[in-house]
Amino acid sequence: MLQKLLDLVYPRLCLACTQRVPAKGSSICISCQGQINPTNYHLLDDNPVLERFWGRIQLQHATTYCTFTKEGLIQQLIHALKYRHQPQIGIELGKLYGHELKNAPLYQNIDYIIPVPLHPKKQHKRGYNQAAKFAEGLAETMGIKWSDDFFVRQENTTTQTKKSRMDRFENVKSAFRVVAPEKLINKHLLLVDDVITTGATLEACASNLIEVEGVKVSLAAIALAS
Ligand SMILES: [Zn+2]
Repeated sequence: MLQKLLDLVYPRLCLACTQRVPAKGSSICISCQGQINPTNYHLLDDNPVLERFWGRIQLQHATTYCTFTKEGLIQQLIHALKYRHQPQIGIELGKLYGHELKNAPLYQNIDYIIPVPLHPKKQHKRGYNQAAKFAEGLAETMGIKWSDDFFVRQENTTTQTKKSRMDRFENVKSAFRVVAPEKLINKHLLLVDDVITTGATLEACASNLIEVEGVKVSLAAIALAS
């Protein structure tokens, strides 16, 4: 009764097109969901996401929910997630993709979902970490815990311009730190981010995490940029 009343006064609107959506279910409407081009990479052992990390870092599996097309709906949604204070978009996309991952044979033994930490200053300015919002949605539908307590970003990161490629990598890597590594021993972690571009940040994060004894890392992001 109260819910019906609330729906009348505050109708739920699609996060993408602002049309009304039913009181229950996703807050991205069916029509907008139809505009998302899913990759289905979570069903493939070898795929373009994993290929992007070949020869760089040992990953178990890697996937993105969709492809990133310029001017497409996903680009709009990610832009709003990052710059228009719409954290709910990250959660909704996570919930939608979590439904798929929950049943994917390659993603059955994940222990924790870990978002790529945002620089503290950026997070303070934005009010949230968009990768953590995606993690939160994934966790909800996959029924797996997510946490941003195990892996953090530190304040430093000195200027990179005059460094060699290797020094740059070490520098990016040192921007992150595993907290309480004893809690991660032998765990399979799903490291998540919003968009994968060069993969440099994810590589740096994963290389920190796999230094913990027995840790395996898989990746999931909302979109893969070409
Ligand atoms: Zn819509």
